[in-house]
Amino acid sequence: MEAFKEKVWLSSPTMHGDELRYVTEAIEKNWVSTVGENLTELERLAKEYIGCGSAVALSSGTAALHLAVKLAGEKLYGQAQTGHGILNGHKVFCSDMTFDATVNPVAYEGGEAVFIDSEYETWNMDPEALEKAFGIYPDVKLVVLANLYGTPAKLDEIRDVCQKHNALLVEDAAESLGATYRRIQTGNFGLYNAISFNGNKIITGSSGGMLLTDDREAADKARKWSTQSREAAPWYQHEELGYNYRMSNIIAGIVRGQFGYLEEHIRQKKEIYTRYKEGFKDLPVKMNPYIEGEMEPNFWLSCLVIDKEAMCQQVRGEKESLYVPEKSKSCPTQILEKLTEHNAEGRPIWKPMHLQPVYRMNPFITRNGSGRARSNAYIDTGVVADVGADIFARGLCLPSDNKMTEEQQKAIIGIVRSCFG
Ligand SMILES: *Cc1c(COP(=O)(O)O)cnc(C)c1O
Repeated sequence: MEAFKEKVWLSSPTMHGDELRYVTEAIEKNWVSTVGENLTELERLAKEYIGCGSAVALSSGTAALHLAVKLAGEKLYGQAQTGHGILNGHKVFCSDMTFDATVNPVAYEGGEAVFIDSEYETWNMDPEALEKAFGIYPDVKLVVLANLYGTPAKLDEIRDVCQKHNALLVEDAAESLGATYRRIQTGNFGLYNAISFNGNKIITGSSGGMLLTDDREAADKARKWSTQSREAAPWYQHEELGYNYRMSNIIAGIVRGQFGYLEEHIRQKKEIYTRYKEGFKDLPVKMNPYIEGEMEPNFWLSCLVIDKEAMCQQVRGEKESLYVPEKSKSCPTQILEKLTEHNAEGRPIWKPMHLQPVYRMNPFITRNGSGRARSNAYIDTGVVADVGADIFARGLCLPSDNKMTEEQQKAIIGIVRSCFG
């Protein structure tokens, strides 16, 4: 098969026209700064759709997570001392297999992330490992959890563990906007929650994010922090540290225009997932899993994981990867290379945080307790549990762009199949 003439993307923005109308309106009326109708309307739309009490539009999902963590920190530990973050050395339990934006705000605030291993049923934080972590670190009071690739975590179980140990939950729903768990929208499960409108998310403003909460006072505080913490005074009066985190009314216009298409995007993404699942049903691979009846993902990215027996040998260093081709077997490196050759974009699974050099000193807790696997050999032989490292080794994200045609997808399925030839 020849390479695609036009690149098939992992997940690229899809504009519909309404975005341009709202942006044009804002420019024509000169509401281009950080106030205006697009912002007000977007916050209203988000509250209504997600069903939360307050929504604060911010410059990014990372900014939203930072303010969420800061709000939680202030509630738990009081105001920060000068020169220290609000978390000031306190440990925080965090999702391990996720984008680093989930956990970086803990470090911004001087906290120490303790990474909690994932489970195989949703690829999210394992409630059992979390329980184990509270056994080891009983003083921890904050949990930061992400819903990976649009699939909700076992949110009730996680919430139960948090409640049992009197810990606050921050939910990173950046990838899962529109996904539901027991019919409730994600972005509602923590005390403070974040969503993102980054360019490759299910809907986008080119950038942007939101803090969601039912705590009205906290939302007002975040809104104030996001605009440099100006006090009500005739001059620039500051009683606390501020940030330049507010979303602009232009970006808000794009997101506002996208919001009406969220359901359509989810439908398209689900069709993509279903077609992959059908196309791979006789291959030694599984799609990224979810618990039917309990949750409805937004299917942001379709991923696959290769059965252990069907993995050819693959070795990954810090920046390079090698594999040994083998008949009827494959590995993520081979599939990703083949996709690139054909002008299609795949991606490895998020490399777990406990394997990242920047977080090499942070604790990592699995179902079996504390410990890091030094190589995948330890996992394969069952010496240590490390679900994240295992999924990272055997999994990958497939092209999941909602503008991908059925024909293109058929060709991609063919490319993947050829790797197992
Ligand atoms: C995209 C993403 C973020 C960060 O959002 P930005 O808007 O890019 O700052 C945070 N967490 C997860 C899990 C994400 O995928």
